[in-house]
Amino acid sequence: MSGITDYLKALWMGFISLPVILVSIQFLATQFNLSRFGVFITLYKGVPLSINYIVRWLLLSEPEALHGYNFWAIVITWSIGWLFISDWVRNIRANISGIFSTYLLYILYLALYHRIALKFLFPDSFIPLFGAFVTTIIIYYLRRFKRTKTFFEKLREAGIKLPEAYFRKVKLPIVCNECGAIILSNSKYCWRCGKDLEQQ
Ligand SMILES: [Zn+2]
Repeated sequence: MSGITDYLKALWMGFISLPVILVSIQFLATQFNLSRFGVFITLYKGVPLSINYIVRWLLLSEPEALHGYNFWAIVITWSIGWLFISDWVRNIRANISGIFSTYLLYILYLALYHRIALKFLFPDSFIPLFGAFVTTIIIYYLRRFKRTKTFFEKLREAGIKLPEAYFRKVKLPIVCNECGAIILSNSKYCWRCGKDLEQQ
């Protein structure tokens, strides 16, 4: 069941976060006056932005979106979006399928709801998708190879002395070798006979 939830989470997050990120990039570019450095993003032209216009940009189906820094802003939007989603939905299959289903949902939204005919260029139109795909794979491998430290390991690193028993790997359940009781936690004493389990 949690599997389906992951797919829905990834799809929903993708669908709503990408327009927000693209608008944020436009906002930051304007706010920090990046045009000083020759960086022009021309999504915002002083009139309120409609959602379908932003989505057309996200799909690169607006000719203007394909030019210069606009194009890179969109590639970055897809990549950053899936960086956050990959860190949140920790399910590689759900994330990969989320990228493609978000894309498909945008197409359906424009085609069915707004009756907009879309034009795609190969390979340009699909580079943002590729960016999202690469980010998802990188996050997946980074998390796989980066082992997280336990609370006790962090305390020990901070110079706090702790009993060695805290670091022993415990395989549950533990069977008390005194009375045979089954213990379902890494407790110190047997609940039935009181034997010190760290000593066994
Ligand atoms: Zn016992």
